[in-house]
Amino acid sequence: MKTWYKDAIIYELHVKAFCDKNKDGKGDFKGLTEKLDYLVGLGINTLWLLPFFVSPQKDDGYDIADYYGIQPEYGTLKDFKLFIKACKKRNLKIIIELVVNHVSDQHYWFQDAINLGKKSKYWDYFIWRDDEECFKETRIIFTDTEKSNWAWQPQVKKFYWHRFFSSQPDLNYNNPKVVKNINKIIKYWSDLGVDGFRLDAIPYLCVKEGTNNENLPETHEVIKNWRKYLDAHFEYKIFLAEANQWPEDVAKYFGNDDECHMAYNFPLMPRLYIALKKETRTPIIDIMENLPAIPPNCQWALFLRNHDELTLEMVTDEERDYMYKEYAKDPKMRRNVGIIRRLAPLVDNSKRVIKLLNSILMSFPGTPIIYYGDEIGMGDNIYLGDRNGVRTPMQWTADKNAGFSQVSPHQLYLPPIMDSIYGYHVINVETESLQPFSLFNYMKRLIEMRKRYLVFGRGAIEFIKPKNIKILAYRRFDEVHQILCIVNLSKVAEFVEIDLGAFNFSNIVEIFGQNTYAPTNGKKYNFTMQPHSFFWFEMQPLLYTESQIE
Ligand code: MG
Repeated sequence: MKTWYKDAIIYELHVKAFCDKNKDGKGDFKGLTEKLDYLVGLGINTLWLLPFFVSPQKDDGYDIADYYGIQPEYGTLKDFKLFIKACKKRNLKIIIELVVNHVSDQHYWFQDAINLGKKSKYWDYFIWRDDEECFKETRIIFTDTEKSNWAWQPQVKKFYWHRFFSSQPDLNYNNPKVVKNINKIIKYWSDLGVDGFRLDAIPYLCVKEGTNNENLPETHEVIKNWRKYLDAHFEYKIFLAEANQWPEDVAKYFGNDDECHMAYNFPLMPRLYIALKKETRTPIIDIMENLPAIPPNCQWALFLRNHDELTLEMVTDEERDYMYKEYAKDPKMRRNVGIIRRLAPLVDNSKRVIKLLNSILMSFPGTPIIYYGDEIGMGDNIYLGDRNGVRTPMQWTADKNAGFSQVSPHQLYLPPIMDSIYGYHVINVETESLQPFSLFNYMKRLIEMRKRYLVFGRGAIEFIKPKNIKILAYRRFDEVHQILCIVNLSKVAEFVEIDLGAFNFSNIVEIFGQNTYAPTNGKKYNFTMQPHSFFWFEMQPLLYTESQIE
């Protein structure tokens, strides 16, 4: 189906972190291929792979030195082809990273430019200046490490432009040759069987003096060019936009259905956490009702956590202070402009809250993304540098190295989580698979229900606003189904009276147990909610009664 991404359940993972088959302490494609049945069993139908290209790994692979090569530790091209084949056999789609904003300073384009200077045909692939005066209005993203967006290159005696680490020179998208080169990369990986591309950090592609160099019209033209190329050469392949911006700016990356098919709902994510702590639905409804309408074939991508810090760039100063105070009391939990914690530790390991947040992830308009390990409630290590604390090995068993690798523990790319609450002796796939009421088995059921009702991925949403502000209630509907979702954001039991006037129904059926609730003649219905709990009801349509048929 053309719009397959609307029904996708995406699982985000790093090949390095998943399973080490060749015994070098790092995960690889052979290991990942062996674990595909685990993912299918969980209900996943789409993988998003973090960067696996040749790279000096100064930014965990987001610094690419060769777009056409696989980092040798992760495997060979043959391993990758076998991986793709194994995915196709299981109807798993694959989204890979297209890190377009910048390259590694080891990429031959940059190397050639600094070796030959202006004589290099790649000189204009980068942005050079004699001083650091230009583009003063542009913010710095990696505030923990970088003081300027310019870095000095001693060989050519010029400054070059970089929005991320100084070892990642930005590509110059004001140069059409650079734009065209990306099309070749799209073709190469599409031909190999990849189904989609996550366009990394796209708001910063083009630069223009007198602007803040974000979301420029020229940047949108570049993306339109790639989309045109993609559609002209391939069917059913997609772009997913990483644009960490305010709602009206994020939505522009859908274009008029001629840019990206999907974009992350960055604005919603932090507000889920704020609503939870404040025990009020207001932050969620405010942001959702202010999201611009998007073209019919486009889709939001929803997430609770990912491989980066929980970003707090697109919130107000007051909201940011609140988030730090409530969720990152220890300064070691803070990175750049955000919080470097996994889902379970963020919510003090409350299984109720984890389930509640996942219920929103699965039932809000958009496609859900699960970050590897969050399905079993993995923890983090705030003492590791950069964002490594949430990138530790997947916890498969209680055996050596969490069942991730057979090497000496000292050889692992990062130590696994070992504390008494989240350590692999307690939290692992094997143990949780054996327990019917574990988080893992719960997630399986939740995903199954999400997939059973396509209305969650495709239908409209309407918020119901009962008197009790601690209750988030919404209606998801299309021509076939209407679902009532009720969430208790409070840590104590709550009573709520819901107006069912918007529904045309005869039976109220609780989705997980398939129990029919007591009928009601009026338009109001009373629910008693356990602390941090949620309900999904299928409101079965009003049918003719027997007397009417007679
Ligand atoms: Mg390995």
